[in-house]
Amino acid sequence: MIFLYHSLFSNELKLLKAYYICAMNEGSQPTVCVIGGGAAGFFGAITCAEYIRDAQVIILEQTQTVLNKVKISGGGRCNVTHACFEPKELVQFYPRGQKELLGPFFKFQPKDIFDWFEYRGVELKTEKDNRVFPVSNQSSTIIDCLVESAKANNVKIWNQTKITDLFQDKNNKWHLRTGNGHNIIADAVLVATGSSPYIWEVLGKFHEIVEPVPSLFTFNIQHVILSDLQGITIPHVEINIDGHKLQTEGPLLITHWGLSGPAILKMSAWGARLFHAMDYRFSIHVNWTGLKTNEVERILMKQKIDQPKKQIVNSPLFDIPSRLWKNLLNYTKIDTSTLWSQLDDYQLQRLKMILTRCTFKVNGKSTFKDEFVTAGGVVLEEVDFRTMESKKMKNLYFAGEVLDIDALTGGFNFQAAWTTGYLAGIAIANRFE
Ligand SMILES: Cc1cc2nc3c(=O)[nH]c(=O)nc-3n(C[C@H](O)[C@H](O)[C@H](O)COP(=O)(O)OP(=O)(O)OC[C@H]3O[C@@H](n4cnc5c(N)ncnc54)[C@H](O)[C@@H]3O)c2cc1C
Repeated sequence: MIFLYHSLFSNELKLLKAYYICAMNEGSQPTVCVIGGGAAGFFGAITCAEYIRDAQVIILEQTQTVLNKVKISGGGRCNVTHACFEPKELVQFYPRGQKELLGPFFKFQPKDIFDWFEYRGVELKTEKDNRVFPVSNQSSTIIDCLVESAKANNVKIWNQTKITDLFQDKNNKWHLRTGNGHNIIADAVLVATGSSPYIWEVLGKFHEIVEPVPSLFTFNIQHVILSDLQGITIPHVEINIDGHKLQTEGPLLITHWGLSGPAILKMSAWGARLFHAMDYRFSIHVNWTGLKTNEVERILMKQKIDQPKKQIVNSPLFDIPSRLWKNLLNYTKIDTSTLWSQLDDYQLQRLKMILTRCTFKVNGKSTFKDEFVTAGGVVLEEVDFRTMESKKMKNLYFAGEVLDIDALTGGFNFQAAWTTGYLAGIAIANRFE
């Protein structure tokens, strides 16, 4: 039973007049407080409550509603996970957390998410690109399932309860202070606050926090080659950064403001810290063909021999859309009436260069509205990834984006939240069983 009482709290005078919401019970039931009603918090709370039925598990959520990011995720469809069932392959999608998540993925991975939701009546489907969604195509299906599972296991959900501070007493009990002056006492705390700068500041007294920076964004570029091409997709490009080893490949999308698409989003994730340090001003090289330079040269020469009478402008190569092909030719000053047979060595070299190393100056970033995350958070070396417990503070656990973990777009970020939430829930249950 949860009740309120006034109490003195010896080591914090300013709390003298505060209410305590004492979550301790008359019996020996442990109280587990989960800070944050997002994907990781719900998964941790439900798992914990399923494993120790007599525990009191409470989700403390600062806003009026829970699972707000799940709701808007995947364009309202919720890209729940990614159909990649080999942990060693799966971790390759995590620029931060790659090493640490390997063990956890051997314990709880996308296959388990299929089972978890299907056991609770939610069917999932895998799309061509291996992203996984509910068959309903509605994120509300996932939300309803999580909320109902929480209720079925007597997990309490306290909305509009912002945690503003936490500390541990000498008996290892945790004291959580709420924004409206209440204090909650718990045996264990799972911090699942996502990318909350406020909580990172509070946690700074126990843990090192890696500076948070945005990940998964698009590049702002103004360039004549890209003008009037918004909406065009190039199926396979390769992107490099000037002076760095970073390289990504995949489809590229030209937008009103610059470049987007999987190749750019991957680059933004792998280079999140680097780009932040450069104030999002740097140069990139796009290889529109995705092929090696000598292979491109060979294909151009062959075209010259095979199609001598064709106009270059009318015979785009390498799956490059014709409007982009035309812009590239204009940029290299190859006249639109030129035939393949008329292409001289100098022009051929210029064409090869623009196709394989087309340089753009990036000047800022834009939000990728379908999915974005924060790189940074609780430093991973200070967390035991077998249990998700802090190595510094007993009975303090972490799950989800509050950790310095983030992934590429495609369902991997939720998978990290489910896996770490699950492991934390099991570990807390084991501790108090
Ligand atoms: C637009 C968008 C779309 C996305 N789509 C996808 C997708 O399709 N697939 C995918 O894998 N990932 C997606 N992501 C990323 C994914 O949403 C996050 O990685 C995931 O939500 C992280 O879960 P979490 O539980 O750690 O944090 P969150 O979901 O952010 O939940 C944290 C919760 O803690 C609460 N909180 C914070 N501080 C306090 C406090 N002091 N006291 C009490 N409560 C607090 C917050 O209000 C919030 O409800 C998307 C992200 C965005 C922004």
